[in-house]
Amino acid sequence: MTQGELFCVSCGNPPPLTEERLCESCFRARNHLSEFPERIQQTRCPKCEMFLIDGRFGRMNHDELMQHRAMEALTVHPDADNLDLKLHAELIDDRTSRLTIEIKGYIQEFEFEDQHEALLQTSNGVCQTCTRKAGAYFEAVMQLRSAGRRLEDDEVKELRMSLDEMLANSPEDPMFFITKEGPVTGGWDLQLGSKAMARMWGRKLVNAHGGQTKETSTTVGHKDGVDITRLTLLYRKPAYGMGDVIKFRKRFWRVDSWQKDGPILLAMDRYERTGATWRDLEKCIVMSQQKDHYVVDILRRDDSAVEILDPNDFSVRTLSSAYDIGTDDTKVRICLIEGEWTCMPRTRGEQGGNGDGN
Ligand SMILES: [Zn+2]
Ligand SMILES: [Zn+2]
Repeated sequence: MTQGELFCVSCGNPPPLTEERLCESCFRARNHLSEFPERIQQTRCPKCEMFLIDGRFGRMNHDELMQHRAMEALTVHPDADNLDLKLHAELIDDRTSRLTIEIKGYIQEFEFEDQHEALLQTSNGVCQTCTRKAGAYFEAVMQLRSAGRRLEDDEVKELRMSLDEMLANSPEDPMFFITKEGPVTGGWDLQLGSKAMARMWGRKLVNAHGGQTKETSTTVGHKDGVDITRLTLLYRKPAYGMGDVIKFRKRFWRVDSWQKDGPILLAMDRYERTGATWRDLEKCIVMSQQKDHYVVDILRRDDSAVEILDPNDFSVRTLSSAYDIGTDDTKVRICLIEGEWTCMPRTRGEQGGNGDGN
């Protein structure tokens, strides 16, 4: 077969011809670089303003969302390459944007160029989270308590704030919401959207304040032969906090650090660290809380004693020195135990400096 015998299979034109033996105009008539609809719909939850994106409600900044919507709606010829795409989004009103696309590219050796315009319209659809919130849905009850006493208001506030921090710092999860919360005798209760949320928070509380969580599960219904359960997660904040002085087994100790099973205690009277379980310490007595401690200047010292000014009446007191005081220490941490000022050894968290600050 010679060149002279080839012709366009569609219209009979002579070469040049494509691989499919079409002339350029027939090839262009049969191939389109891109297609774009005139109208695009998207769904937004009217309550939380999240958008339905790839089957899930979530957030995206406006430019990214426009890009995403355009790419979803745009179809490009499978053989196209060297694409060059320009997108322009113009906000018309809260529910409507105009998307304009200019696209260039090659199919085989021919350059194509298209321009499209679409109206992106937003309709309402309540997301699952808001539906559940509205229906007072919850999967978990979180109970904040203290061991052996009431939780103080500022303790509740501090514990509660850690939930806001957790929500702000964890990836957006539609089930991480609070259905209801409020004070109860001795503490604070919350109904939470998911068990995972309760457990995650429980772990954070234990890490920050020690203590333990206790889980109980109740069956609240059945669906498709499966029990639907609700989790109750009780967090008991220990009566003592990091740095506090406690009485345990007839000696005084400072709470040095947390471990999984209980705190590490630092003896007040001689250098000694020991581990205790949360259970061991349920009956301990808090002698002095860290917030009531003072860091004061050492006025004079000898081998076993330091002189300081009493923070309450500014008279000079002589106290027996803490065993970890070094010759270059200028300050010492003191607390009142049973009415007497007492020097304290430094916990792990206080080491490294001269005990200044907190
Ligand atoms: Zn032709
Ligand atoms: Zn919503």
